[in-house]
This record gives sequence, structure tokens and C-alpha cells, in this order.
Amino acid sequence: MTPEKVLDDGFLVVEQGRIAAVGPWRELSRSWSGPVEDLGEVAICAGVFNMHTHLELSHLRGQTVQGHGFSQWVKSLIALPMAEADDATLDAAVAELAAGGTAWVVDITSRKSQQVAAALERAGLGYTLGIEFFGHQPTQGLVWPQGASGLSESQWQHVSAAGHALYSTSPETLRAAKAWCTEQGRVFPLHLAEHQGEEQLLASGDGEFAELLRLRVLPQDFTPPGCSPVESADRLGLLDGRTLAVHCVRLSEADIRRLAERGTSVCLCPRSNEYIGVGRAPWAALKAAGLNLCLGTDSLSSNQDLNVWNEAIHIIEKTGGEIGFAEVLRWLTVNPARFLGLENTHGTLESGKVAGYSIVPDGIERS
Ligand SMILES: [Zn+2]
Repeated sequence: MTPEKVLDDGFLVVEQGRIAAVGPWRELSRSWSGPVEDLGEVAICAGVFNMHTHLELSHLRGQTVQGHGFSQWVKSLIALPMAEADDATLDAAVAELAAGGTAWVVDITSRKSQQVAAALERAGLGYTLGIEFFGHQPTQGLVWPQGASGLSESQWQHVSAAGHALYSTSPETLRAAKAWCTEQGRVFPLHLAEHQGEEQLLASGDGEFAELLRLRVLPQDFTPPGCSPVESADRLGLLDGRTLAVHCVRLSEADIRRLAERGTSVCLCPRSNEYIGVGRAPWAALKAAGLNLCLGTDSLSSNQDLNVWNEAIHIIEKTGGEIGFAEVLRWLTVNPARFLGLENTHGTLESGKVAGYSIVPDGIERS
């Protein structure tokens, strides 16, 4: 089913992990003799994509500062034990994803990559593992973070190299990570234009956030590029159709045009942005510019839960329905499937695709 097509009294035939047929119950049930599960009075759609999580931070739910901006939030985060998520915590977080009808997750990780991959596999969720590069230390080529050690050969097939951000990671490392992704045919996730401090740091090297970063991340000889985060990323050659720019809160009209020209997909994390207190991304302008938009919850260190439907509900509510159900449904299904090259297996309820579905939450306005 395409997002535009609604089927009443629908029936989904599943055989060997694939959708064998979709159609009205009164027609398909005549030729079906297998077991039937009645979901009741619900609407279902394809399994949804949560395009930005950090599952390895799942033990930190509710422990960071809320609503006081990025510097205060990150200070509270780094004071916590960031590397201590155990398997039970990861399994509980993944169970939360599964309960929300999540078919696929793009998870960013640097500390517990193998454990995160294993937890996603135990629950049968599809995943992309963005191994995150961070730091300004000079390196020869890509030095993979410790957390990536122990990944099996099959798990490496799910790996992307992810950049943390333009302010936290050296241009050489970001370019090398992007180049690896291009060579290997992988997507490249990057936190981009999330907050005012990032914007100011890149424009002038000043500000509260820049001072905070100088304490342990930013090199003494750091020279700001003197432009916006989007322009800086573009100058480094990081923006193309296989890059996922995450957050994109602080954008000028020129930045939006640039992202559209490059064909870069954008992952919005509206509740994380509100939790931290960095403002709202220009949702309507991004949509109007024709960008391929997706949604992510971000981690439990900056959100209440991992149900990506709640991001969609947030946007519908905050825009007073200007951005409505049909639109956000694309952000949850066909848009991320297209970005990840999974349009033949995911994103819609059509025969031949991977079996799975998501129940549309009760509270969502479907007009
Ligand atoms: Zn993130």
C-alpha cells in the first residue's frame, strides 16, 4: 500500500517472513486456510523507521538537564557514566522500539557497538550501525573507535562511518569517514546545525559553547570556517544524496536551498530539540523545499521514549495540522526506505516486502 492508499477491513498474508498478499479481508480470506490474527479496530502501516538513536545511552533516561540549551545539557551528560549500558538495558530499549512498530533503526554508537548490534539482532530489528568518529586529534586514515572492535563480519555489513559534528571532529576525519562510506556504498549520518552554540562557534569561534569545547575537545589553534554549519559541511564535500543530516534546527534559507541542491536527506528529532531547548527546525520550509525528510527520537538522554510515532504526533500538533498525517507517514516509512536503498523491501505494505507492520497510534489525527 502506498501512504495515499487506505484499505478498509484489510488483510495481510504473511509467508516465510514476507508479505505474500495485501487486500480486503472479504476477498483474500476465501483462499486462505492458515491461522488468522485479528488486530481489532486499528489502522496499520508499514513498519516505521527510527532514523536516529544512540541506544548505548539508554541507561541515562531522565538524568540530564532539560530545557536549558545545548551547553547545559552536554555538561550534565558528560558528568554521567556514558559507557555503562548493560545488555538488559539495551534489550529493554530495543523492546521499546519494537513495541512502537519499528522496522529499522539507524543507531549511532562508539562505545558498545557490538552489544547494540546484538540486541537489535535478538529482537529481529533491521538496523544501520553508524560508528561515530569524534575528536580533533591528527590521525593517519580512519582509526575506528574502540566500540567497533568485536563486530562480526556480518555486523560490519550494517556499518556506516558517522561523523559526530563539525565542531567536535576534525575536517580530515570527517572527510575520511565520508570517503569510506562512499567507497563502501554506505550512508553517512552527521549531526548538523543542531544548536546556536555550534552556529556561533563555526561562524566566529566565540561563545559559551566554544569556551566549553576549548576545555577538552577543540584544539588551541582551531580556526573557525567563518560560515554556517551547512556551508561548512558542503565545503568539506560531506553533503550528497547518501548523507543524513541530523537535527538541522539552525538553517538559513540559503542552507535549505543548499541541502536541497545536494539531495541530502534530513532527520528531524523534534522532541530531542525541545528536551534540550535548542528550538525547532524549520519543518514547513524543509518540506516546501522538497527535502527527503525522516524522523528520529535521538537517545534516551534527550527524550522520554524511543517511539518515533511521538515525533510525528509532536509535529502534527505543533503545526496545528499544517503538516498532517499523510506527510509524516512518508517521513516514517517511504522517505527513510528510499534514503537507505530499502524501497524494494520496506516502507510500504506490498507483496514481496519484508513482513511487519506498525499500528498507527490512537491519538494521531488521520485526516
Ligand atoms: Zn544524536
